[in-house]
Amino acid sequence: MKYAVIDRGDSISQSLAEQFHTLAAERGFIRNDDAPEIVVSIGGDGTLLQAFHKYVDRIMDVAFVGVHTGHLGFYADWQKNELPELVALMAEKELSIVRYPLAEIEVETTEGKFHYMALNEFTLKGVDGTLVAQINVNDEPFEMFRGDGIVISTPSGSTAYNKSVGGAIVHPSISSIQIAEIASINNRVFRTLGSSLLLPQHHHCDIISKKNQRMLLTIDQLSILRSDILSIRCNVSSRKVSFARYRPFPFWNRVRDAFVDMHEV
Ligand code: NAP
Ligand code: MN
Repeated sequence: MKYAVIDRGDSISQSLAEQFHTLAAERGFIRNDDAPEIVVSIGGDGTLLQAFHKYVDRIMDVAFVGVHTGHLGFYADWQKNELPELVALMAEKELSIVRYPLAEIEVETTEGKFHYMALNEFTLKGVDGTLVAQINVNDEPFEMFRGDGIVISTPSGSTAYNKSVGGAIVHPSISSIQIAEIASINNRVFRTLGSSLLLPQHHHCDIISKKNQRMLLTIDQLSILRSDILSIRCNVSSRKVSFARYRPFPFWNRVRDAFVDMHEV
């Protein structure tokens, strides 16, 4: 089994990475940073996002495992004291994979087209003031958006930024992208839908921006400032991300444990 480890860079995560390498060597796992089958992320959800983007070009050939060093993570479900158990299960248990949908965008600029994949979301925001953009759904004009920005999230990213702007939480078995608004302007003159909407796998939307706006495009933890974006085509990707599951942890339990303080009654 070929594996790689990505850690957050703090001393706890680094020493856990060392511990993982030692345990892995005892089991005969092969460390291979270029072509791993399993990528172990040690840190938080942000660390897993980094690991995802490092291996995004080989996304069909890798499966991720997340270890959290702080609070419960959405992608990181192993605790720091569980590495021996995790390595034992990796060695002995047959690999079980869950696959989550990804979002894909094609950004058209005056310099050409660029493609990106997101595990959590893309956001588009105005830099100098209100973002002004027309939104088309399946090539039909849908609305003219004016406001701070737009969040396009995956189901597993629906618990992140999307949740903060009032979007719904979507189970990752529903292949979809969610379009949510950030502070849209709604008055007698300007009008947007006002609620977030979910597009299925076979639909797409285009965000067509007013010319010469400086815009901030974020792709998970990455952000890009550009003033030459013409339009952005958003889709559910045909590719999915794989997570290696050595024990079950249902999505709704994760949501409950992260957001709801459910005391015994
Ligand atoms: P960060 O500022 O550390 O992330 C913000 C928080 O989001 C952290 O607590 C992070 O967990 C958590 N998070 C990440 N992915 C999540 C998910 N799928 N479900 C629930 N919580 C999640 O920055 P980062 O670690 O580089 O993460 C980038 C992400 O931050 C972006 O993809 C975006 O979703 C989120 N973000 C949220 C807001 C907002 O809610 N207003 C604003 C900007 C960015 P960890 O501490 O475990 O990393
Ligand atoms: Mn973080």
